[in-house]
Order: sequence, then C-alpha cells, then structure tokens
Amino acid sequence: MVADGIVCHCPICEGKSEVYYCSGQHQMFKCKDCETAFLYPMPSAEFLDKFYAQFHKSFETGGGYELFEAASSRSFNRKIKIIKQRVKSSGEKIRLLDVGCGKGYFVEKCVEAGMDAQGIDLSSTAIEFARNAGRPCNRGRVEDIDSKKHQFDVVTFWATIEHLPDPLSALIKIRELLTPGGALFFDTGIGSDWLDNLLPGVVQWYDPPQHLFVFSPEGVRVILRKADFEVKSIDLNFESSNLRKVLKSIRGLFFGTVVRSATCLARVRQSPTLFTRYALGNLMLIEARKGVAPDEFENK
Ligand SMILES: [Zn+2]
Repeated sequence: MVADGIVCHCPICEGKSEVYYCSGQHQMFKCKDCETAFLYPMPSAEFLDKFYAQFHKSFETGGGYELFEAASSRSFNRKIKIIKQRVKSSGEKIRLLDVGCGKGYFVEKCVEAGMDAQGIDLSSTAIEFARNAGRPCNRGRVEDIDSKKHQFDVVTFWATIEHLPDPLSALIKIRELLTPGGALFFDTGIGSDWLDNLLPGVVQWYDPPQHLFVFSPEGVRVILRKADFEVKSIDLNFESSNLRKVLKSIRGLFFGTVVRSATCLARVRQSPTLFTRYALGNLMLIEARKGVAPDEFENK
C-alpha cells in the first residue's frame, strides 16, 4: 500500500482510498471501489500486542473484555444452530476450530452441542481462563497450526477479522486447515450499508485501533475470492434472534434519522468525528466454502 498525500490504496482490492474517519492520531481510509474502510498506516505488531494485553483485562484492572464477550455470546446458540443445519456430518463428530476463541465460551457451547471443538487465541490471559475452565483452547496464531496434522470440517472466526492487520493471510491459512468442502463462518460489522450511509462514520465499527478494518459486503467478497473461498451466503442483518433483528433495524433507522435531522437543522457541518460510538451498527454473518476439487496450491 502506497500513501500519497491523503490518498492510499486499499489493502483488499487496491482501489483508491480517501480519509473517511479520524480518531486521535488514527485515520481510517475508505476505498472508492470496494467501500471497505481500513486504518492507515497499520499499527505495528508491538503496538497491537500492548493494546490487546490491556483490552483483555477485566473492568477492575482497566480493560473492557467482559462487555465484549457478553455481547458476542448472545448469538452463540443461533450460530451453532446455523452450523448444524448447514454442515452435514457423516456420523462422525464435526471437527471445529474457533479462531480468536477468547475465553472459550463458544468452544464450550460447541462441545455441549456434540462437536469435536477446539479454540485458538493470541491472548494468554484469555487462554489461561479457558483452560482453567476445562475448555480445549490453545494460545497461538492460526498461522502456526500445522495443516498436515490438523484438519477441520468447520472454522469459525467470530468478530475477529476486523482486528487483524493482514486478514488475507489468516483466511489463506484457514482455508489450508479446512477439509475439501469445509466451511468457514465468520461475522464482522458492516460498513457502507444503509446505516453507515445515513450516518457516515458514526456506526460503532469505526473504532481504531481496536478495529483495523470495517468491511463492506463487497470487500468481504473480494478478500474471500483472493483467498480462494466460495461465498455461500452473506446475511446483512445478523442478530441472535429475529425479534432482535427487527428491533435493531427500527432503532438504527430512528437514531439515524434523528441524528441526521438534528445535524442538518443545526447546520452543523457533517464531520466523521462529530459523533462517536453510539451502539449502532449492523453485523453480517458470512458462510464460505473451500472447494471440493483437488487443490493445486496445497502441499507445496
Ligand atoms: Zn477496496
């Protein structure tokens, strides 16, 4: 990616990108082609390690991880139902890897649902918690798993892709770990949907350096194509229940309209930094498959 004044190139599709959202010293650019937003320049690995060491702490010690974990765990039952509906097991247990498993709550639910599940996460504090609770989770990077020894029918990747400085290499590695026809399920906040267009930069996903990317549906298609996945479905309003789906849409429309109207009425110049972090924003849930054809890239 080459910066050129305020223009740089999208790490997903190489399209021209312009500054879209600023927070402190962090600037997020948005691609004019695939409409994915990304932090530029990307923070260093050392910076991210320090940031996440703090992030994974409890409230009492200055972190906010419990809030994040509680919000994501609401949807686990629905996600497990979707996996069991879409992945047919041949009598054997479904082998599932949860990448970015945190404290292992989702892994535990999958084990309870009869799957042969395990998790991996970079955070030593989260993995220590998971292992103390008897959950089969390991500390490390997905890139370090040996695909010749470990293969999975399903990989899940919840609320993680937007935190990675190089999401393409993680997806390529995940594909390597999947059996032919294996399924990848992941979710991430949506950028450039109706709500983001109504309130530019206001939805909660613009939160650098926690979120390094805010993917558009097109950005997801492009990166999955590059990683050689076949996109099966993208649910643009994923929620833990249908009722929550409806309520969230109404809330988004209501707040979006009120804030947008107030901004226009007060003749305040619309700026991406005017409003920060309403609990607004839609999630997309993506299902992708590794093809069943023999793979020329493998075992090289
Ligand atoms: Zn792009």
